[in-house]
Amino acid sequence: MSTNDGIRADWTTKDFYQVLGVSKDAGADEIKKAYRKLARANHPDSNPGDQAKHDRFKQVAEAYDVLGDVEKRKKYDEVRTAYASGGFGFPQGGFGSGSGGFDVGDMFGDRVRQGGLGDMFGDLFGNRGRTTAPPRPQRGADVETSATIGFTDAIDGVTISLRLTSDAPCPTCSGTGGKPGTKPHICTECEGAGFVVVSAGGAFSMNETCPACGGRQLVYDEACPTCHGSGRGSSSRSIQARIPAGVKDGQRIRLKGKGAAGTNGGPAGDLFVAVKVGPHRVFGRAGDNLTLDVPVSFDEAALGAEVRIPTLGGPPVTLKIPAGTPNGRTFRVRGKGAMRRDGTKGDLLATVQVQVPGKLDSTAREAVEAYRAATAGKPLRANLFEEGSA
Ligand SMILES: [Zn+2]
Ligand SMILES: [Zn+2]
Repeated sequence: MSTNDGIRADWTTKDFYQVLGVSKDAGADEIKKAYRKLARANHPDSNPGDQAKHDRFKQVAEAYDVLGDVEKRKKYDEVRTAYASGGFGFPQGGFGSGSGGFDVGDMFGDRVRQGGLGDMFGDLFGNRGRTTAPPRPQRGADVETSATIGFTDAIDGVTISLRLTSDAPCPTCSGTGGKPGTKPHICTECEGAGFVVVSAGGAFSMNETCPACGGRQLVYDEACPTCHGSGRGSSSRSIQARIPAGVKDGQRIRLKGKGAAGTNGGPAGDLFVAVKVGPHRVFGRAGDNLTLDVPVSFDEAALGAEVRIPTLGGPPVTLKIPAGTPNGRTFRVRGKGAMRRDGTKGDLLATVQVQVPGKLDSTAREAVEAYRAATAGKPLRANLFEEGSA
């Protein structure tokens, strides 16, 4: 976790509202306006060599990065409120001045990562006993995965076993990236902020996760032997997932409560499974309907016939082909398609494909020649040509 939920330890010492010259209840438009005005006035391009304006520009960009984002602003306000109330009592001057004594393992553990601010600041500044707010229940994260199932399973529904791998803090170092038993020190690159301000070209600059500490604000002289300092690990688990009848290729199934576990008694997240459906030897799928190409002979199409066709998962049915059926005509067999959500079924769409024999024996050949003689003179292609031309 490179951002600790996006919360910065230095927010407690930085008044972004003051930086932008707006009140705490300023609307999004007002904040944007103030930012633009200040960014223009202090832009490095229009103030070459003016370090004071460069610095001011950076501050303005940093402030807007937070206040211009609804979610970040909300978190920032929470941190500021908590700080102002004195509930956590961490030292003035912010994070950088209090380098010893706090429990780094807890700081980056699951509980804090997914827990509330009370946890974070309580542990961060060694005042766990004075934490006023109880840990907030937090819903687990949603998890995405994909699965391929057979054509028939998609029609009937199927229970599949899914192996889910998710990011988790490295088990050896609890996500700190440091060799267990060694002591961290404040990152000198970002001075413990966890991020650095970089120019993004033109009028923009933005906060980037500090490359030296990866946003963790602390560095270790010796890297964790398991994760080599990244702090990242993974955990995997198996679950049984019920794929409902009638699922379509590419459909996303939501399995409520099968995502990541919640913390502090919060509910689990959801699992989303992107389903790929394999092909069938003869049947195709068009939404709730099944499709089937039915080869028929010329005489069957011309004279009419009753042909047996298969259904998926049921006995064959008889399809009545009326005399004079053209090639490509589709017949609808009701209720022999895929299951719909409401429990009813789609249809089977059977499409006639008139076959031309590759070879004729002499008897058949005579018959076809007789047919040709009988139908000679019928202008089959007359309308391909314009009137008067040959
Ligand atoms: Zn750093
Ligand atoms: Zn590790």
